[in-house]
Amino acid sequence: MNHQFVGVQCEFTTACLECGDDVSAVGGQALVSSRLEWSIETACPACGPIVSCGRQDIPAGLRERLLADLSHGPATLQIALGESDSRAVVMKVIRASLGVDLAAAKAMPAALQSGRHTGTLPEVEQLASALRAVGIGAQVSPK
Ligand SMILES: [Zn+2]
Repeated sequence: MNHQFVGVQCEFTTACLECGDDVSAVGGQALVSSRLEWSIETACPACGPIVSCGRQDIPAGLRERLLADLSHGPATLQIALGESDSRAVVMKVIRASLGVDLAAAKAMPAALQSGRHTGTLPEVEQLASALRAVGIGAQVSPK
């Protein structure tokens, strides 16, 4: 079993799901046992705490907040392909991990080699660990 935990979170103001008033919220995303999870918890004085959460499909607004948050910002993934490492293997892992089509996957080994692939830390760590599992050297920054 893989019990690694990598998470990021940020605080913001959003509308209460019950009454619509502006309330403070904490949103986050984490990599739990190789799966991505997200959550948003609001603390409304009238309605009490409300938690919404899910797996792969993080709300776009929350993802943008996490990427824009200056305390962590976007993470970068860079891979080092050796002579014997196959780009086809890298593309296969990318397609399986990210669910992207072949055209998008084809462009990614080059982006990964030059460190141009970014995402939230849990997203990047998920792809990095999948690549390491097939023997590809993958470096995530910041750690
Ligand atoms: Zn409320």
